[in-house]
Amino acid sequence: MSEKEYDIVIIGAGLFGMATAYHLIEENNELKILVVDKASMAGAGNTAQSAAMYRDTFSSEVNLLLSSSTRDFFRHIQNDLGIELSLKDIKYLWLMDREQFEHNKTAVETMLNNNLRIEILEKDDIERKIPELVTNFDENEDAQMLGLKNIDYAILGYDCGELDADKITRDFYENEYKRLGGDVLYSTKVTKFILEPVGEKLGIPGEPVGWQKKKIGFVETEKGELLKADTFIIATGAWANELLLPLGVDSHTMPLKKSLFRVQHSRLAGLLNNENFNEEKTIPFIIFPMYGIHMKPVKYNDSIWIGGGNVIGKPFEMTNPRDITKDDNPLDSTEADPRKYEYDLYLMLSEYLPVLKDLPLTNCWAGFYAMNTIDKNPVVFKPDGIQGLLVVTSGSGSGIMKADAVGRIAEALYRDQKYAELFGGTKFKVSRLGLKERNVDKEYFVI
Ligand SMILES: Cc1cc2nc3c(=O)[nH]c(=O)nc-3n(C[C@H](O)[C@H](O)[C@H](O)COP(=O)(O)OP(=O)(O)OC[C@H]3O[C@@H](n4cnc5c(N)ncnc54)[C@H](O)[C@@H]3O)c2cc1C
Repeated sequence: MSEKEYDIVIIGAGLFGMATAYHLIEENNELKILVVDKASMAGAGNTAQSAAMYRDTFSSEVNLLLSSSTRDFFRHIQNDLGIELSLKDIKYLWLMDREQFEHNKTAVETMLNNNLRIEILEKDDIERKIPELVTNFDENEDAQMLGLKNIDYAILGYDCGELDADKITRDFYENEYKRLGGDVLYSTKVTKFILEPVGEKLGIPGEPVGWQKKKIGFVETEKGELLKADTFIIATGAWANELLLPLGVDSHTMPLKKSLFRVQHSRLAGLLNNENFNEEKTIPFIIFPMYGIHMKPVKYNDSIWIGGGNVIGKPFEMTNPRDITKDDNPLDSTEADPRKYEYDLYLMLSEYLPVLKDLPLTNCWAGFYAMNTIDKNPVVFKPDGIQGLLVVTSGSGSGIMKADAVGRIAEALYRDQKYAELFGGTKFKVSRLGLKERNVDKEYFVI
């Protein structure tokens, strides 16, 4: 077995792993760092399956700090550094009935007090801006059977939009990391962590035994290579449990399957060409009043991406960590079930947007959220009792829009700093995203 030695080995070259790698090498240029991924390039895991939307419309302080500082850094990369990220403020539009609007009033007030650029639209305004939208189902029996909610209000978030997940991962973070001297090792699956006692080995069988202090000695790869480092960082997203559970570490993260469905048709051109919202002259990203069903416009090829839907009754995907070397890992699957669109999303959406009626599904794919089961926010921590291990995971469906802040927080934790400085200068207490002193305030803006 060959053996290589680094200061830091990061496992996982998704957006979390690459943002962390970049901030580590940027702040500590003398360090020898390696990023390992089982895929053949960076950002090929769930980062590639993502809708890559960003927003700042949150009422919770943690959500707002992570997302707005990340967005501002991405804007800086594109506008000041001249690296194209296809970042466009196409805006977000939340459609809601009267009851949902009343329910969210306090959250809206909080957002306004935090100087977020949002606008409340009333029904007439919404109908004028998107004439294709049906807002009232009082006379529609089919829609009533489905329990569809009317659209009485909307909240329009201005500093929200989309970017290209590949570009931010590879054209910025990976390029810069490599330019600063970072190494990568792709097409290499890490299969095992090997624990060692801290200090001298005593020659007891099965070392390290229970009472001995432990550290990660090596990781083993599928190719039989041993990688040695002072610190290992696990940034394997939805696959995190495969490496953490055998170590007895619980990151409170579960893989949750999420599918996206694409409908492409020239009939959608009228809906997609809309001058009422943004410089791109298209409709915003729209969230419908039912089960978080959402729709992303892709104007250049007359298509929309549809996602969301009820998650109650949907299983978390379990994998047996002992099966990590097998080729048929369900977490590697990117297949979506078209029936989810036909029998679930389509039935509701085509009532709100009759232009969709009878249009065939043209494509669909799926990925997994690394879902934090405590508060749906990232987790960045050093597990108790194992030296030289740091975990950066749980994007929970909003990892693109929080990635830069998460990378900075992981870097600060590596140096045992109490605070991380986010882009723009705000100080963020690192332990807020940890497990022991976790302090994530409740998010009230949910429909
Ligand atoms: C359908 C979908 C839509 C989404 N939409 C949005 C959105 O609109 N906005 C938003 O902010 N977020 C969204 N997300 C979430 C977002 O994509 C992620 O939170 C973000 O990309 C961070 O991912 P990550 O780096 O943690 O994981 P990943 O990108 O999955 O990276 C983990 C990496 O680890 C590697 N790996 C795993 N196991 C091993 C191993 N044993 N050895 C070596 N390598 C390994 C994988 O190959 C992978 O490259 C969405 C996610 C999905 C699935």
